[in-house]
Amino acid sequence: MIERCHLAAAEISELGVLSHSTVKSAVSQLGPLKVTRLIVTDHNGLAIYDSATPNTPPPYSYVLFPEIVQALQINNAFSYTYHDGAMESRAATPVISFGALNGCVYMMEYDTTQGALMQSLQNNILAITLVLESVVILFSLAFAKGFDRRMRQIMDSIRIFRDGDYTHRVKISGRDELTFLGDEFNELTERLQKSENKRRQFVSDASHELKTPLASIKLLTDSILQNDMDIGTIREFVGDIGSEADRLNRMSQKLLSLSRIETQADGDCEIIYMGPTVERVARMLSAIAKECNISMELDLKDDCPILILEDDLYQITFNLAENGIKYNIPGGKLTISVHRSEDNAILTVSDTGMGIPEDAINHVFERFYRVDKARSRKTGGSGLGLSIVRSMVERNRGTISVSSVPEQGSTFTVVFPIFDTEEESS
Ligand code: ADP
Repeated sequence: MIERCHLAAAEISELGVLSHSTVKSAVSQLGPLKVTRLIVTDHNGLAIYDSATPNTPPPYSYVLFPEIVQALQINNAFSYTYHDGAMESRAATPVISFGALNGCVYMMEYDTTQGALMQSLQNNILAITLVLESVVILFSLAFAKGFDRRMRQIMDSIRIFRDGDYTHRVKISGRDELTFLGDEFNELTERLQKSENKRRQFVSDASHELKTPLASIKLLTDSILQNDMDIGTIREFVGDIGSEADRLNRMSQKLLSLSRIETQADGDCEIIYMGPTVERVARMLSAIAKECNISMELDLKDDCPILILEDDLYQITFNLAENGIKYNIPGGKLTISVHRSEDNAILTVSDTGMGIPEDAINHVFERFYRVDKARSRKTGGSGLGLSIVRSMVERNRGTISVSSVPEQGSTFTVVFPIFDTEEESS
């Protein structure tokens, strides 16, 4: 359309003076322009010729369509609109004569063929949009249904779990966040199930262990009450009751200590050198060692700083050394050493005692485990000492191991990471 406007503008620009008659004859010479309406204005926008009324002479009126306004500012203008099934295109170009603006040519085309094309395009787009929208809605519904079903599965599992069935596991298909949630849930339930089993086992073991001294006390008191006894036997029985009570006391203290390890937060760890604490334990046990005729030897290197709860280090060393005396033989030896190996501080407690049989060595750290129940009971053992040691070692980032040769002795080795203050601060 712009081209056609240019053609008409070129023809009209040669007229010199623009008037209705000159423009009309120039337009007639252009041949068929195939436009619905042609308007020629002067440089002020005053219509000189309008193809809608080609024979109507002046007075003229101003035609200030947006395209005409633009053309009078010496620009080519084009716009189109589509309505009522037809395409309306508008174009305007300035008429320049001798380098000055002389007017403008405006053309408008009302095209129903293009309109029909647009209409069918519009219908097609509408149909495609509707189909797409329906597909999206169907997909959304299917997805929401699936999501809802899987979510309900998880909620049901949580409810079953809450009601106490720790064996229940959720099965979620797919590979999305809900599947991850299901996996996390299963892992959580597995852990809880394990810890619940452990707790049940602990409660049953503990009550079983407490039952034995209580039964002895009951038996001894019944014997005293039911039989005529001389004062010497009564004293002996009461003494036995006292030792059983002591055993109960020791056991309950160890149980408390175990539960404290499990429930307490890590507490205030401090950087300490192991030597002085080990010496303190040795001093504490020297009387019992002497009583049992066990010689004690210390080999303590003083380059082993570690980050630990001091009470824990004391208890670890105490339990291991006490066992080294308890399960030793008269005239035996207990050696405690502390040394450094690369970045580790190593505490070893060795004895020359009875040793631990091979089949028992993997169980000695279990709660209430005793190799020789009779001997352990006689020595006041509860089977809790080593499990306390292991829990304390692990909560202080250490490891513990044992090697033993029956009838020759055992060596317990505890390894803690060295805490070098200089290195750590740099
Ligand atoms: P207990 O209070 O019975 O000593 P522990 O947990 O300290 O409990 O030890 C568990 C068992 O491991 C003991 O009953 C004992 O049979 C065995 N044991 C521990 N330390 C030694 C050792 N140094 N020598 C031989 N046996 C040991």
